[in-house]
Amino acid sequence: MASHGFSVTFREQLLERLRSERFDLLVIGGGITGAGIALDAVSRGLKVALVEREDFASGTSSRSTKLIHGGLRYLKQLEFGLVKEVGSERAVVHNLAPHLVIPEKMLLPLSEGKSLGYLLTSFGLKLYDWLADVKKSDQRRMLTRAQTLRYEPLLKKDFIKGGAIYAEYRTDDARLTLEVMKTAFQRGAICVSYVAARDFLYEDKRVAGARIVDELTKRELDLRAPAIVNATGPWVDDLRTADASLSGKRLHLTKGVHIVVPRERLPVQQAIYFDVSDGRMIFAIPRGRVSYIGTTDTNYDGDKDHVVATVEDAEYLIRAVNDTFPSVQLSLNDVESSWAGLRPLIHEEGKSESELSRKDEIFVSPSGLISIAGGKLTGYRKMAERVVDLVIHRHFGDQVFRECFTNRIRLAGNTFGSYDDVVAYRDAVARQLAGAGLEEYVAEYLVGNYGQQTDLIIRHFLQMDAAMNKDLALILSELWFCFHHEMIVTLLDFFLRRTGLVNFDIMRVERWKSEVAEELGRYAGWSAERKKSEIDALDTYIAEARLTKRIASI
Ligand code: FAD
Repeated sequence: MASHGFSVTFREQLLERLRSERFDLLVIGGGITGAGIALDAVSRGLKVALVEREDFASGTSSRSTKLIHGGLRYLKQLEFGLVKEVGSERAVVHNLAPHLVIPEKMLLPLSEGKSLGYLLTSFGLKLYDWLADVKKSDQRRMLTRAQTLRYEPLLKKDFIKGGAIYAEYRTDDARLTLEVMKTAFQRGAICVSYVAARDFLYEDKRVAGARIVDELTKRELDLRAPAIVNATGPWVDDLRTADASLSGKRLHLTKGVHIVVPRERLPVQQAIYFDVSDGRMIFAIPRGRVSYIGTTDTNYDGDKDHVVATVEDAEYLIRAVNDTFPSVQLSLNDVESSWAGLRPLIHEEGKSESELSRKDEIFVSPSGLISIAGGKLTGYRKMAERVVDLVIHRHFGDQVFRECFTNRIRLAGNTFGSYDDVVAYRDAVARQLAGAGLEEYVAEYLVGNYGQQTDLIIRHFLQMDAAMNKDLALILSELWFCFHHEMIVTLLDFFLRRTGLVNFDIMRVERWKSEVAEELGRYAGWSAERKKSEIDALDTYIAEARLTKRIASI
């Protein structure tokens, strides 16, 4: 169940293997796209290496709206193929990790003069269900005005003329990426974080490997592989440039921002997808003790390595909320956290940022470098299948490999037969934790994050000093698990991408960051200086996420 060897403790051995072994495929980039490709390829029998220059999922794959969704708005753009593929994938990905990809009903209010008409919406959602082959009990239901307002009494009553409820799934993008990565690793892929690909190595003008750099020690080594996939999301064109093959289509980056407010400040009863005055549509999603709101969609040509929400971004989302839920009246001071990410879209002449297609596209350079860009979290598995088909066709055409079967490979943490099993397991965990003095919501958090790996965390928790504060004992047990099984290197890896606490429970981070730094420092052998720099980096991130400095300066 656990991922033995997927720990920074084994990093030197993993780097040595990257240096000394010959691989069939090198995947560059450890977001969902790279992770999906590594899993698909290794499960078909290829020998795979994957390098990620920071933490896994540190790019766009931890900065999305965190929905496994069909993309209702793509219907508006008449992208039927995309809706069909990602729509159908929702149920597949849910089955691969039912604890992590959880059904979520979405309310779509229809208001006077803004959204599509009632009949068009009814038809559109029916088409959406049909394209995605949604089972009958989950199909869309149209609502009267009164029903819509019962679902969400906070809505501005004057203009509501009806609504609809339809099925989507929510997830945690960083954890989904990590579980796909761990599953690839368990099957034999060598996946290492904080290792960047710098330059390509060529044989007869064909890419034959890459010079890679261990970002922790700055040591360089050469990695050999006949097939190389560039899955670096917003950085795809940087590697195409390094390969001297950036021509024709290129990326168009747009920034999307989410803000997080305390649940009591935006107590929506379920996820809502509503339209705002400029014609865009925005989500408000309740999650544990907070609600989050997003997203913006603006052209971006700033620093790709440092993407943050601005006060203007936050004000736009706050205005949208206050217009739609007039009794709420959020202000900048309510923003508890935020995140911003870049959509790596394909540029199309004459189209505005929100009109650009979300379809993925594969580029093959004259040297044989395969680059993949665009796409969605939801469609990662099908994208991976297409890329690995191409890799096999181009490089190993005369050998026999298995057909793609990732639709049947359960992700790490999933030993459940169905979603009902998840619910039963969660209840059992809640009972066990109640006995240890912890509240019920903790079980939901743990099982949602770690699935059945929660057993290991609880076992560790029960062995902790009984006199220790229970919440501290729990967070240190999570840390123990993440250090030994989830390749954390920094404090932020733990607090942001393994636990999601910086996004969704920032008070818990503030409360325990020193104790966690102390314990992680003990595991990893940090000096006092390193410990301080880790806490400083976390504090800087938190200040940016809370917009602290930027609000103070206006
Ligand atoms: P990334 O996650 O960015 O991964 C690329 C990785 O490559 C990075 O980790 C980077 O560090 C690494 N890298 C870069 N250069 C190098 C190098 N030289 N060497 C090694 N590694 C390198 N999709 C959905 O399905 N549902 C949603 O709700 C949703 N919401 C979204 C909301 C927003 C605001 C945005 C921006 C996107 C959203 N998406 C959503 C789309 C989805 O998040 C992306 O399509 C997906 O995460 C892209 O993953 P990726 O692996 O291609 O890129």
